[in-house]
Amino acid sequence: MSTELHNARGARVLIVEDEPAIAQTVAAYLGREGLHTRTCADGENALRIAIDWTPQLVLLDVRLPDGSGFDVLRELRRHGDTPVIMVTAMDQEADRVSGFRLGADDYVVKPFSPLELAARALAVLRRGIRQGDPVLSAGGLSIDRAARQVWPTSLGRQQSILLTRIEYELILRLALAAPRVVGRAELLLACNQASEAYDRTIDTHLYNTRRKLRSYGLGDWLTTVRGIGYCARTK
Ligand code: CA
Repeated sequence: MSTELHNARGARVLIVEDEPAIAQTVAAYLGREGLHTRTCADGENALRIAIDWTPQLVLLDVRLPDGSGFDVLRELRRHGDTPVIMVTAMDQEADRVSGFRLGADDYVVKPFSPLELAARALAVLRRGIRQGDPVLSAGGLSIDRAARQVWPTSLGRQQSILLTRIEYELILRLALAAPRVVGRAELLLACNQASEAYDRTIDTHLYNTRRKLRSYGLGDWLTTVRGIGYCARTK
C-alpha cells in the first residue's frame, strides 16, 4: 500500500467504527479539514477497503462486531505501514501498550472530542509527510533519524548532544508523540526495555536526558505530567 503524501489536505482516511453516530461525526469533522473519508463498520470490510482504496490513515475502533481492532491492526501491518490511530472505550494502559506494540501511531479513548481526534489525525498525517525528510524538529531540538543525532536547532548539527542509545530513543519517541503525553509503558517499549525490572531505571534515563538538555538551555523541553507521563515541547 502506498502512503505517499505531500499535503494533509485531500488525504484519504478510513474510519472503522460500528457506531453510526460516531462514524458520521468523525467523518464530518475530518471533512471540514479537507480530508476524504470512507466509513465501514467491521474488520472484514476495513481490510478490503484498506487494500482497494489505500487510505493514508486508518482510524480503528478496538471493539468491532466481527472481532478486535487489534487483529485488524495486525493484518494491516502485514500489508504495509499505513498510519493507524486506535479508538477505544477502554482506557487501560495494557490496551495502549498492545496497540503501540502492534504498531499503532496514536491512541484515542472514548468519549473523545471530535476536534481533538481531527487534530491528532492531521498530526499523524503531517508526520507521515515529514518522513521524507530525515530531520525532525520539535521544540527547539533537531533530530536526524538516519544519523541518530540530536542537536539544539539554534546551534546547528555541529553542536550534537552526546546521548546514550536509550536517551536518544526517549527523545525520539517524545518528539514524535508531541504534544501528546507519553506514558512510562510506552517509553519503555520505545527503548525495547519492556520489563518491570527496567521500570524504575527509566526515571534515571529521563533525569539524565533532562540534565543534558538543560546544559543546552533546553531544560524545559521535557515536562513531567504527574501520574500520567512525559511530554515534549513543540514550540
Ligand atoms: Ca465499537
